[in-house]
Amino acid sequence: MMVQYQLGDIAIQRIVESICTGFEPLSFFPGSTSEDWSRHRSWMEPRALDPVSGNLVLTIQAFLVRTRHHVILVDTCVGDHKSRPQRPFWHMQKFNTFLPRLAAAGVNPEDVDYVMCTHLHGDHVGWNTQLRDGRWVPTFPNAKYIFAQREWDSFEELHRRNPQPQFLDSVLPVVEARQAQLVGSEFSLDDEVWLEPTPGHTPGHVCVHLASRGAHAVITGDCIHSPVQCVELGWTMRADADPALASATRLGFLERYCDSGVIVCATHFPEPSIGRIIRRENAFWFGEDAT
Ligand SMILES: [Zn+2]
Repeated sequence: MMVQYQLGDIAIQRIVESICTGFEPLSFFPGSTSEDWSRHRSWMEPRALDPVSGNLVLTIQAFLVRTRHHVILVDTCVGDHKSRPQRPFWHMQKFNTFLPRLAAAGVNPEDVDYVMCTHLHGDHVGWNTQLRDGRWVPTFPNAKYIFAQREWDSFEELHRRNPQPQFLDSVLPVVEARQAQLVGSEFSLDDEVWLEPTPGHTPGHVCVHLASRGAHAVITGDCIHSPVQCVELGWTMRADADPALASATRLGFLERYCDSGVIVCATHFPEPSIGRIIRRENAFWFGEDAT
């Protein structure tokens, strides 16, 4: 289950927190109709669409990236003990899966050098912090947490107008501990790891690009949520902050990486979540990697 993908000198490994079947497809993609879903059901079930509930299957996972120099965690899932009354299936969850699976991959919290968040929604920042003696403290004591400045600015403003629980318990404590590093949306950590601006789902959303020995990979975050969006190019997701921009960014992403050989690590896609974008008819297709 925890296969390691080797990209030149970089090892990529998925750390799965849970498989979420809590989202109903018609409301997740407000532009979709029941007729659309009856057309897609046959190829999406059972892996991308749950035949029991009829809901989408979304993997909630982080990507562990080990380069020759750094141990990096990209996105940190939902987290345990987080109060999320708006999302009953994530509210106060106590899965105790994330840190044990990270440990099984050979990484203890103190080993992580960098945490990178593609954006600041609750299912991407959760394990940034953990509850200790009644306080939220950074889970990774030696890590720098890299947030795009633009994303930080937009969530700080949003939080002032409309309190964001994940900003309060999973982002602010990292800043208070002086472990946050706010960067431009095209920030490069080094010549193997850099950010790619992919705004729309959130104003400062970024993908994470990896390169080693001529091989490239990109971690999508929420630039795309489900393989159905490779086919239904006009569908936007209910939480897209700017649906038109999100759509244009997603189409640009699919065009850029289509038939390019670049490995796409699609954060919420069904397992194995790692593959390539290929062109198919007038749209695209996500071809899963054999590993
Ligand atoms: Zn997400």
